Order: sequence, then C-alpha cells, then structure tokens
Amino acid sequence: MKIAIFGGSIAGLAAAGRLEQQGHDVSLWEKNSTPSGGGFGILLPSSALGAFDALALGDAVRQAGHPIERCDLRAGEEGSFHQQALTDTHAISRSSLIGILRSSLEKTTFHGDATFVDFDFDGTGRARHGLLSDGRKVEADLFIGADGVRSTVRERVLPGLPLSEVRVVEMVGSIDGAKIPPFLTNTFSKTLFHHQGLAIGLLPVSDDCLVWFIQADPLRNPEIFSQGRALQNWVGSVARRCPSPVRELCLEIDPLGSRLCRSTDRELPSQFHRENVLLLGDAAHPLLPFTSQGTGSAIEDARDLSRLLERLPNNLEHNLQQLARQRLPILRERLRVGRRLQRQFLAPGGSERHGPVPLAS
Ligand SMILES: Cc1cc2nc3c(=O)[nH]c(=O)nc-3n(C[C@H](O)[C@H](O)[C@H](O)COP(=O)(O)OP(=O)(O)OC[C@H]3O[C@@H](n4cnc5c(N)ncnc54)[C@H](O)[C@@H]3O)c2cc1C
Repeated sequence: MKIAIFGGSIAGLAAAGRLEQQGHDVSLWEKNSTPSGGGFGILLPSSALGAFDALALGDAVRQAGHPIERCDLRAGEEGSFHQQALTDTHAISRSSLIGILRSSLEKTTFHGDATFVDFDFDGTGRARHGLLSDGRKVEADLFIGADGVRSTVRERVLPGLPLSEVRVVEMVGSIDGAKIPPFLTNTFSKTLFHHQGLAIGLLPVSDDCLVWFIQADPLRNPEIFSQGRALQNWVGSVARRCPSPVRELCLEIDPLGSRLCRSTDRELPSQFHRENVLLLGDAAHPLLPFTSQGTGSAIEDARDLSRLLERLPNNLEHNLQQLARQRLPILRERLRVGRRLQRQFLAPGGSERHGPVPLAS
C-alpha cells in the first residue's frame, strides 16, 4: 500500500519505520528540516519500552537512554520524603530518541521542509492527494496525520472537539556537562510545593546531562512568565526553598534558554480516522504531561496499526475501526489519570501527595 505520513516526530517516524519494514511504500513529510516536538528529556515507563520492543527498537532505546530506578518525591514545605522503585524505566533525550527512530528509515523516506496544508478529496470523500504549502501534491492510498497537538490534518478531517489550554505551565531546560550527584544517580527527583501550585523536577538523561523542569500554576506563580534577570531571580528563589540536597543542584539552573510549554486537553473522538485518513499520536489524542505517557502512546499507536495491517491487509476500513476500539479504552484511562493529577496539582490547598504515578517532563 502507498502510505503518506504528515509529521515526522515520534508517532510519524515510528509508524513510517514499521510500515516500511512490512513492505509498504511509505513517504514521510515534516514541516521542519529536522523533526521537532516539545520537551528536552522523556521518561519512558516500562509500558512505553514494551512498545519499543514490539518495534524491535527497545534495545537501542535502553542503550541510548539512562536507567531510572527510583522516583524521589519531596514535599517542599513539610520536608517529607517518599521513594518509589521503578522497574524497566529509562530517561532519554528527545534528540537521541528521534535519532533512533529516524535511523530505522530508508534514506529516501523522510522529506523535510514539507508542510501539509490540505487534502484534495474525490466525490466519495476519500483523500486523493495531500497538498503541501509549496504546491507539491502527495498521492497515497492511506494518509496518516502525525502532526502533533495542533494537527492541521485533524482540522481537515475530524474538526470539532476543541483543544483547550490547561492552566499548568511548564518551563523545561537542561544542564549539559552536569556532574550528576549521588542522590540523583538513576533517580527521577521531584519536589512539590503543595500550597503554591509549584513543582520542580530533575531527570538525568545521560551520565552528564540533566533535564530540569518547573511546573507552575501561573495564577499563583505569574513570575514564570517574566524574563531575563527577573526570571532568574524567581527560579533562584524557588531553588532556595527546596530541601537539601535538591537545593544545591537547583541553584545551578539557568532559565535563560529554557522553553515554556502549555499543556492542552481535548476529549477523545470516537474514531481516529475518516475514510482513508488516520490520526496517530498527539494529533489523535493529546495526553496531559502528568503521566509521562505521550511518547509511549504514540509508539503503541504505530505498533497496533502495523499489526492490524499485517493481519488483514485488504480491509482498511475494518482495521482503522479496530484500531480505535483497541486504543480508546487505554487512552481514556490515561487521560482520566492525567486530569486527576492535574486537578490535584491545581487544588488551592494542594493535594498532590505521593501518588503512584511519577510526574515528568
Ligand atoms: C515539555 C514536554 C515534556 C514532555 N515529556 C514527556 C515525557 O516525559 N514522557 C512522555 O512519554 N511524553 C512526554 N511529552 C509528550 C510527548 O512529547 C508527545 O506525546 C510526543 O512528542 C507525541 O509525538 P507526536 O509525534 O504525536 O507529536 P509531536 O512530537 O508534537 O510531533 C509532531 C510533528 O509534526 C510536525 N508538523 C506539525 N504540523 C505539520 C504540518 N502541517 N506538516 C508537516 N509536519 C507538521 C511537527 O514539526 C512535529 O515534528 C512531553 C511533551 C512536552 C511538551
């Protein structure tokens, strides 16, 4: 089958690699010259690694990633401490992950600087071509929109169900050449200030690179939107409030050069396709960052799609309906947990205590 994928980040690359291995004629169209997407570091729980295993990429991801064996949760105000063991969990930089996914593609599959803008449909509502902003037309039997949260493909085929910005703001950055102190070895650390709608996380993604993030309720922490010296002063004041030994490391954080990300939320649709256009990854189902499941879910989408196409290669409509039947219950649960954790984080008195799910960025 001829398959054209729009969006060349995690979902698009994973689907392209797998479908190509199955013998499909795949082309991948990405608006940037190289793949992009949010976040510096990604925490991959065992469920996500299992999905990489199914794509025969699990070993490469574990090798390039950094094993995370513990999650340390500290309550900033009360000084309490809770440690949770994590099994088969790895942290990896987004660029390493993208590199692994991209290396599994044929050289001619990836087309950078190619922005999808629209489809041209035939009289029955099937897409004939995907149209790019530079006038090129891409022909295929199946089109896949893997173009992220603000998906243009989705706007064209499954409009409705608006995307809403949620209140939590995340600032993410990294310290390259960091000396990872013993307390953080193979550890994801998070310090929560329950009454201030504030959390600071530290995640080693390699032996000398540390990804940090600050999650904030901007109504109580408007300083997160400040810039330059004012922003540095605010981050410094947050760091000084952290208990030792987190404090000493957080004092090294320089927010200049960091990224500010706003999470989004959207109800799940009942199908992820219309005719011969399918959505995968964040385009189909943005998940809140509180559960660290966005990447794993995108990889699972690619895995399940390829399995279905392998089993019943000639019944596309049935396969795409079946994909939604398989994926929706799992995604519904992840969305539910993410929303609960977010509500707790935003609660005025703060109530996110030592929950079972780590919060990552
Ligand atoms: C700050 C932050 C931290 C995160 N941390 C984690 C974590 O720890 N663990 C985890 O599992 N998940 C995490 N996530 C979520 C994870 O990054 C996403 O779920 C994942 O990237 C989804 O992959 P995707 O391929 O569906 O979309 P994206 O990664 O958003 O990729 C979409 C791609 O489509 C391209 N594109 C967009 N429009 C067009 C167009 N019109 N034409 C062509 N190409 C287009 C974009 O350039 C991009 O390359 C985090 C997200 C953020 C923002």
